[in-house]
Amino acid sequence: METTLVLLKPDCVQRNLMGEVISRFEKKGLTIRGMKMLRLDDSLITEHYGFLADKPFFPSLVEYMKSSPIVAMAISWANVVKTVRTMSGATNPVEAQPGTIRGDYALSIDGNIMHASDSEETAKEELERFFEKNEIFEYERLDSKVL
Ligand code: UDP
Ligand code: MG
Repeated sequence: METTLVLLKPDCVQRNLMGEVISRFEKKGLTIRGMKMLRLDDSLITEHYGFLADKPFFPSLVEYMKSSPIVAMAISWANVVKTVRTMSGATNPVEAQPGTIRGDYALSIDGNIMHASDSEETAKEELERFFEKNEIFEYERLDSKVL
C-alpha cells in the first residue's frame, strides 16, 4: 500500500472547494488515512518548496501558502502517487485537462488548488514533514472487498 501527501492549498479553502476535492478522492475509491487543517509558517514552506527558492515567484508563493489555513491529507492505495498526480492535472491550470482537479477548478498557476507528492520517495519525506506517525491511521474500509 502506497501513501501520498495532498495539500488543499489556500485558494481551495477560501473558495469553499475542500469538500469537492476531498469527494473526488473518496469517489475514486482511495483511502483517506489522515487529514488535518493547519497554517503554514515560513520555515515549513521553505522546507516544502525549498527547491524553488531561487525562482522569481518564490516570495509570492510563500505569501500565498501563508494566506490561509490549508488542509493536509494522507491518502493510500496501490500506485496512489501517480493516480493522484493524474487526478490533479498539470501544474499550470491553463494546461490542465478538463476532468482533472486543476483543470476543473483553477485558472492560474498562482492558485492551483492542491499539492500532490511527485514520487514515492518524495511522498515519504513529505508525509513525515506534515504528519506525526499517530496521525496516520490503519483501518479497513467496509467497501474494500468490492473495489
Ligand atoms: N509555482 C508557481 N509558478 C510557477 C511554477 C510553480 O507559482 O511558475 C508554484 C505552484 O503553486 C506549484 C508549486 O509552485 O504548484 C510547486 O511547483 P511544482 O513544479 O512542484 O508543481 P506541482 O508539483 O505543484 O504540480
Ligand atoms: Mg511538485
